[in-house]
Amino acid sequence: MPAARVLLVEDEAVLATALTDGLKQDGFAVETAADGLAALDLGMAGPFDVIVLDLMLPGLGGLDLCARLRDAGVDTPVLVLTARTTERDQLSALRLGADDYLTKPFSYRILVARLHALLRRTGVRRGTVLTAGDLTLDRASRRCRRGEADIDLTPREFSLLELLMSRPGQVVSKRHALDEVWDFALSDTESNVLEVYISYLRRKIDLPFGRTAIGTVRSVGYRLDPDGG
Ligand code: CA
Repeated sequence: MPAARVLLVEDEAVLATALTDGLKQDGFAVETAADGLAALDLGMAGPFDVIVLDLMLPGLGGLDLCARLRDAGVDTPVLVLTARTTERDQLSALRLGADDYLTKPFSYRILVARLHALLRRTGVRRGTVLTAGDLTLDRASRRCRRGEADIDLTPREFSLLELLMSRPGQVVSKRHALDEVWDFALSDTESNVLEVYISYLRRKIDLPFGRTAIGTVRSVGYRLDPDGG
């Protein structure tokens, strides 16, 4: 199982070193950045599962960094470490796209627990098999199963289901799904291709089994039931 990849953005060298050592011992793969601009480059380019972000940074502050990552469509979960303790600061961090925060000084054990919770919530799986109840998708063998039944998916259907299953319980917006699964720009008239493929998927993974794993969030997108429907 590959380790979850953490981008640790922290300019206090002693803390950064201690956290890096601890997280590595706890099975995370860790990259560090000590200033905001370096972190922005890494966050844009790197395939991280979670970002641990100090707010007071040289180069580019943590709040701006977070906002710029979100503006660029990077949806890696962000846990903010902040010495600021006012409610307003915490709210601005969350509003700018952070997923969670811890106030310094914090307990290392709590940090690790929060990271695991974030990774679970955002559907990061350390293996290649995604599951939602009795629905499984094996990225390595490209197999989809509902219980004991094998389900034959086209590559496009597979990619769409993989996207939904990679973040169970969360809304996947139509725009995001189109960007992820169809790697060309679709005009508005073509964008119902997503609805069409959702209906293909439902006919394969839900209807024959009397289930409803794929929910519609009206005019927003789709959400996969973490229990498999
Ligand atoms: Ca700092």
